Amino acid sequence: MLFPDYRPRRLRQNDAFRRMIRETKLSVDDLIFPMFAISGKGVKNPIPSMPGHCQLSTDHLVKTAKKAYELGIPAVMLFGIPDKKIPDKKDPLATSAYAKDGIVQKATKALKDKIPDLVVITDVCLCQYTDHGHCGVMDGNIIDNDASLDLLARVALSHAKAGADMAAPSDMMDGRVAEIRQPIMSYAAKYCSAYYGPFREAADSAPRFGDRRTYQMDPANSLEAIREVNMDIEEGADIIMIKPALPYLDIIHSIRNEIDLPVAAYNVSGEYSMIKAAEKMGWIDGKKVMMETNFDLNQAGRSRHDPDLFCS
Ligand code: ZN
Repeated sequence: MLFPDYRPRRLRQNDAFRRMIRETKLSVDDLIFPMFAISGKGVKNPIPSMPGHCQLSTDHLVKTAKKAYELGIPAVMLFGIPDKKIPDKKDPLATSAYAKDGIVQKATKALKDKIPDLVVITDVCLCQYTDHGHCGVMDGNIIDNDASLDLLARVALSHAKAGADMAAPSDMMDGRVAEIRQPIMSYAAKYCSAYYGPFREAADSAPRFGDRRTYQMDPANSLEAIREVNMDIEEGADIIMIKPALPYLDIIHSIRNEIDLPVAAYNVSGEYSMIKAAEKMGWIDGKKVMMETNFDLNQAGRSRHDPDLFCS
């Protein structure tokens, strides 16, 4: 044995010891609250596959965001749900994504009016607004990368004009960070993941044909994630996001040690729903698993150079 006298249990004997040597601290400061904005008034549509989450009309959205902000959560991430009753709101060029009176634009304005210090991050993509459900412009059956960039920039600009603090482009087109030029939390390494299922129900954004494998990353690749991240940093990203989170802890960890920008982990709908479903079946303690998940995410994103204990 290398250290015959090492007895790790000495440091676990009571809560005070455990607290003292705990490597990872969790804080509400670390959280971003995802919200789904829908048009109308007094609307609160529960999302069955994401228990506890609702599509909210602006009035409810502001109330809920205020509660979150008062609990200490500094930021929300806003997704827009175009009105299902008006099908022509979806078209091949996603025009309602950058309309001045679009759902995200209106919700952003209301949030910034009522809670000015809340950081409002808006999801920038086209898939909720295109009739084909893809994240870019189609040329036949192929995504036209560069034609999509112009539209994505328009979406981000319209969000900024409404008061959004930060754009979060989730489309995965090449070159979009450079094109957008607002403060950006980039979905830098976004995998083509089956964990997004419940979100597609929440946002009504499943592609009508094909899949997203030509622009989202292959789950089997990890070196490529580093290239994707470096590309977004070169283009000017401010925060780097990895999505999904739990299956890609190794990616989060290597990116953390590779770059010195803030790193965000997106614990996606499927990850959330798995916990909720197993909790409902009585198979796990949902709250404990949720806390454990948050510790794991935080640890993966901890740099090797973080300090341990202080004496002052
Ligand atoms: Zn999309």
